[in-house]
Amino acid sequence: MSHRLLFLHTGGTLGMKGKPGPLEPASYDETVLPFVRGLDELAEIEHAFLCNIDSSDMDPGQWESIARTIHDASGSYDGFVVLHGTDTMAYSAAAVSLLLEDLARPVVFTGAQRPIHMLRSDGRTNLIHAAICATLDVPEVGVYFNGQLLRGSRTTKFSVNRYDAYRSPGTRPLVEMGAEIEYPEPCRRPRRAQRLASGFERRVAVLTLFPGIQASTLDAIVENGVRGVLLLAFGSGNVPLQGWPEAIRRATDAGVVVVIGSQCVEGSVELGAYAGSAAALDAGAVSGGDMTLEGALTKTMFVLGQGIERQDFRTLWGIDRAGEAG
Ligand code: ASP
Repeated sequence: MSHRLLFLHTGGTLGMKGKPGPLEPASYDETVLPFVRGLDELAEIEHAFLCNIDSSDMDPGQWESIARTIHDASGSYDGFVVLHGTDTMAYSAAAVSLLLEDLARPVVFTGAQRPIHMLRSDGRTNLIHAAICATLDVPEVGVYFNGQLLRGSRTTKFSVNRYDAYRSPGTRPLVEMGAEIEYPEPCRRPRRAQRLASGFERRVAVLTLFPGIQASTLDAIVENGVRGVLLLAFGSGNVPLQGWPEAIRRATDAGVVVVIGSQCVEGSVELGAYAGSAAALDAGAVSGGDMTLEGALTKTMFVLGQGIERQDFRTLWGIDRAGEAG
């Protein structure tokens, strides 16, 4: 039986040209389309051209437009492939997974480390396998790269130049594409009809702690008018005892949400495991658990974007929407 897929193009290295000179977005029809045509025997493919940019220029408006396009077309296709730059693909996948509640069809983000027209490009196999993943019974937002479909809400870009550029710490792949297709991690299933959410708060900041960082750095960020700060703390969520619990309290008293994540890629924040994180918890900080940077940041933006009262942040934060919380 033939499948129907919608390819959404947003840009990224896969469709770029350059050298000599920096890589830049090129014509979709000339660079990408010839390779997509090779997939005719797999599926009937249609195209939506959303933008053609380096993913460093992505913003929440584009996350919403990707999700809206998919939601509106949901009844007409068996799956969706989103062609996207690798630099911020993990943010977009996490954001779209928050926007599409009870997702009914697979949404597969993919891209490439080298332009698809180049001989050694990973783009061709990524494209083929992403399209195959979009025909499978895996109704999740995923990131397909180098043989694996990873849960979109829990993916992080790990390597600048390896072909296996992504990791999903603490979670097995949804699909492993070897000689056989395997499903190591059970996928989520919709319980109700698919719904489209919207809204991301942009007045947020990420602050990475380092030994010797002044607590006044947080005050300066708060004074700048943010509504939420993701603090990438040490290990299981520790902050320096000198000045930091007080600065966190000043932030939360001012109505700013402080989420504590970890600089470690693997493992979970456990506020209270040490004195520093116990003091942060006492000062009103919220735990980012084992979420990735991309997952925790987009969820902070999303929850704050829902027009909620500050006391409701914790309730919404505690709801696992897309498997982001492990
Ligand atoms: N700078 C590119 C982008 O994110 C990198 C890539 O696609 O691999 O658009």
